[in-house]
Amino acid sequence: MTCKTLLTRMSRYIDGDLEEELCVQLKKHLRGCDRCKIVFDTTRRTIGFYRAGKPYEIPRGVHARLQRALRRQWKSSSQKKSSRA
Ligand SMILES: [Zn+2]
Repeated sequence: MTCKTLLTRMSRYIDGDLEEELCVQLKKHLRGCDRCKIVFDTTRRTIGFYRAGKPYEIPRGVHARLQRALRRQWKSSSQKKSSRA
């Protein structure tokens, strides 16, 4: 699984809506990729915050906005010199 694939599957994984096989691949990728792990932790916290703080479900579109924001963040951090190629 590539970093890009992980980002597109992440919210479904957090929702528990991802195929078993992809879950395994995603977890495997997270173990070996610090950058994705940080993004994943941030996303999980953000979604957890929404769930804990609001009595209603995450509005449609939040996932998409979040992913776009994270992708930008990932892109800018990947432009810096990283220890991981
Ligand atoms: Zn990655």
